[in-house]
Amino acid sequence: METRSTGDDNMKKYFLLTYGCQMNELDSEKMAGILEENGWDSAEALDNADLVILNTCCVRAKAEDKVKGKLGQLKKLKLANPRLLIGIGGCMMQQDNVGEKFLQKFPFIDFIFGPHTMDRLNEIVEKSCTGRVLELEADRFDVPRLPIKRESSFRAWVSIIKGCENFCAYCIVPYVRGKEVSRPPAEIVAEVEEQIESGVKEVVLLGQNVNAYGRDTGKVDFGRLLKKVNQVPGLERLRFMTSHPRDFSLKLVDAISEMPRVCEHLHLPIQAGSNRILKKMNRGYTREDYLRLVEHIRNKIPGASITTDIIVGFPGETDEDFALTMDVVEKARFTSAFTFLYSPREGTPAANYSEQVPGEVKRERLNYLMKRQNQISLDYNQVLMGTVTEIMVEGPSKKDSEFYMGRTRTNRPVVFSGKAHPGCLQQVKLTDCNAHTLYGELQED
Ligand code: SAM
Ligand code: SF4
Repeated sequence: METRSTGDDNMKKYFLLTYGCQMNELDSEKMAGILEENGWDSAEALDNADLVILNTCCVRAKAEDKVKGKLGQLKKLKLANPRLLIGIGGCMMQQDNVGEKFLQKFPFIDFIFGPHTMDRLNEIVEKSCTGRVLELEADRFDVPRLPIKRESSFRAWVSIIKGCENFCAYCIVPYVRGKEVSRPPAEIVAEVEEQIESGVKEVVLLGQNVNAYGRDTGKVDFGRLLKKVNQVPGLERLRFMTSHPRDFSLKLVDAISEMPRVCEHLHLPIQAGSNRILKKMNRGYTREDYLRLVEHIRNKIPGASITTDIIVGFPGETDEDFALTMDVVEKARFTSAFTFLYSPREGTPAANYSEQVPGEVKRERLNYLMKRQNQISLDYNQVLMGTVTEIMVEGPSKKDSEFYMGRTRTNRPVVFSGKAHPGCLQQVKLTDCNAHTLYGELQED
């Protein structure tokens, strides 16, 4: 995440670095909101900041390694400028004793906090001017409303539920994000209305398992919440993530098919295609349940894009189990997939399973899966060549500022020549593609 500066040289500057998922991106927007409400401005670069905060992730070892890799650079910055404040927050600090260990091991860190103490960020920063601070809490049962400095002028992430109680055998999230707590529906709708008022066109409802919304309160469930948000005037596009296939009912698919603002994109992490592995993962559904859900979506929401997450090399995964994952990939025909090597997480049940799959086997399976999925993604994109589609413009393309980019309702990125205002809806004729990106020409109004 990059934060824009107001350009006032007298203000103290912060720089935030975010690792991990959209939930962390949203948390960083909240941290920026808190800091800016308290007189801070964002720095253009790490080197000219007075305060640096890393918002960490611990879902896979790779994310942790990136954070550890950054610490060397921070140490040098602190040596060059002893007045620089350095803070580490996020999920990684929330793991058993990791926060304490970091403070002991890295004397150049001024403060440590976690997802449950983020609302006290300003006080934590102030306290750290006079001594090192460790501020962590085990869990929270309230979801304080915090100021948010949104990165996008046209898209708003809106958190609807915190925590996760699914305890998938591989996953660290329930241990660091705590119990599920749903935000009151009126508060969510009010936030969406405020955002629309300020020019936002697209809303993404966020939660580790959005389908669990309302389970803790026994009141408005996810389907009813979605209906309420779908009715907010001025909203162009509504998305949500992440959905748990076990809790995604066929009735919810029917309801969504009648909500015109809900985009035709569903992210449904399958994780594995073998029932034996799904059971060991504690996912609560079978491959048959999953494929039934996919079929229902295809019938009720024509043209829907279904994307997924797949973990390769979960402990005990045999060649036969992996073949079943590939079989689901063939049958479900995902538009795209996030594919991961299983990464043992200390404190989760799967980390102690004896049958860990050798790294080489995991990598081989992952390469095979990625290659096949890329072909399927490319096939989908090729079928669209020559058609005209609606995109929401996001801004200049990251790879080449000569071009602009936007997204289809099915969440595919489209790169096009010509300028257009972020947040506006445009028609684009699709002319070229690869597995991950569509290219097109802007159509005149
Ligand atoms: N709550 C969401 C769900 O249930 O799908 C996603 C949460 S997690 C941040 C995102 C993805 O990371 C998961 O869907 C899973 O595929 C992957 N993941 C989680 N733990 C992992 C692990 N230990 N090793 C590899 N991938 C993992
Ligand atoms: Fe992790 Fe499973 Fe919860 Fe998703 S549903 S956050 S994978 S425990």
